[in-house]
Amino acid sequence: MRAGPSQEDIRRHNLGALLRHVHLGGPTSRAELTSKMGLNRSTIMALTSDLTAAGLVREELPRETGRAGRPSLVVRPESARVYVFAFDVGPDRLAVARVGLGGVILDRREAVRLRGPFELEELTGILAGFARQMRRKTRADTVCVGAAAAVAGGVRKGDGMIRFGPNLGTEEVPFGEELGRRLGLGLPVSVGNDANLAALAEHSRGVGAAVRDLIYLHGDVGIGGGIIAGGHLLGGHDGYGGEVGHMVVNPGGRACGCGSHGCLEAEVGERALLETAGRLAGEQHGRDAVRAVVDAADRGDIVAQEALKKVGDWLGLGVANLVNIFNPEMVIFGGMLREIYLGSAAQVRTRLTLHAMAPQREKLRLRTSALADDATLVGAAELAFAHVLADPLEVLARANA
Ligand SMILES: [Zn+2]
Repeated sequence: MRAGPSQEDIRRHNLGALLRHVHLGGPTSRAELTSKMGLNRSTIMALTSDLTAAGLVREELPRETGRAGRPSLVVRPESARVYVFAFDVGPDRLAVARVGLGGVILDRREAVRLRGPFELEELTGILAGFARQMRRKTRADTVCVGAAAAVAGGVRKGDGMIRFGPNLGTEEVPFGEELGRRLGLGLPVSVGNDANLAALAEHSRGVGAAVRDLIYLHGDVGIGGGIIAGGHLLGGHDGYGGEVGHMVVNPGGRACGCGSHGCLEAEVGERALLETAGRLAGEQHGRDAVRAVVDAADRGDIVAQEALKKVGDWLGLGVANLVNIFNPEMVIFGGMLREIYLGSAAQVRTRLTLHAMAPQREKLRLRTSALADDATLVGAAELAFAHVLADPLEVLARANA
């Protein structure tokens, strides 16, 4: 006979669930927690006092209740005390943030990354250096409980190995291990694909909060994606799932960095747009170059308008395929796809009408990212907090040791 969960398992689960509520929802009264979690008042009180004793939350009287009687205490996360480090490695940018429990960005550093080969030691050295600078500025009673990184590439689940990252100029590098060693915090660094993590960020704190089925499309040099189905990120067997950028939309089309032809990324990515708009000459690239095409189209530049139409057409075809397969409630355009979508929404909608099945598109909402350039960084922070929310007291005891 298999035993059910022990009292201790239930308590651990409830502690994590309560902490998740205040981490994602902000300050919440005991009364609200009681009704949201479906537990009785004395259980909520006991859980809250355990989390308070551990220094993860604190309780305060609400400012104004407007109601007679004894007010319910408000539970708020100890954002200034408990934090994680979040890293973002994109083709053109390195970013590091110190993010407090509750998702508050407390401090951040950024550097421009020049496109070219991926120098593991140099790159992890810069990231760890930024983290050290920020750490030196913290109060003595603060505690770092985790670290995670978002990278523009395919990452092996479990050990943070970047398996492929054509847009970062790398493959097969032990990124998580090396960054963990450089940080020297005695903490493992979790690593995830940037678009997957941005999808999680929009799902937990952005335009897709409370949406259980969504697809997030991230444009950088390439196109990445994150698919949230039934509230869970689809990672696939080894964690490489969701590579919607390599869905073939135009067999025999443009060559793609992955070795194939006519992938969504090859037809819609930065290079395709700039080339079609006749702007690939010289050193123009990156988000600003993409924005310049959209602005020019707005001002009536015919070549820019035609380029956006063409790219929007491919984008719409890709989205229609995804909508037919996954029936999302929302599709979110982030990174530079935000600009491309805003400049080509008519083409995207036309393709959806032509190719997406009616029942799947009836209630579909198309949105742009709410977290904008912070989506990947916020997603990395959520990945770093995941183990804290799974077992708050254990993680905090270890961090304090
Ligand atoms: Zn490809």
